[in-house]
Amino acid sequence: MKQSFTCSICGAKTRGFGNNPDPVVTIPDARCCDSCNRDYVIKARILMIGLIDAARSPKKNRQSTRTE
Ligand SMILES: [Zn+2]
Repeated sequence: MKQSFTCSICGAKTRGFGNNPDPVVTIPDARCCDSCNRDYVIKARILMIGLIDAARSPKKNRQSTRTE
């Protein structure tokens, strides 16, 4: 059984189940096509993982507030 959906990123009508576009589009039940998934969603996820790592790691340096 084939499904079709409208890509929530590029607006193309596409056959198939699509991909979860989060974090590019965070609307519930939104789908995106394979090409947008590859070009935007995967890159956005890689960027977000990098941002999360960057947000976590500097805390080590911020603890250098001296209370002596
Ligand atoms: Zn698309």
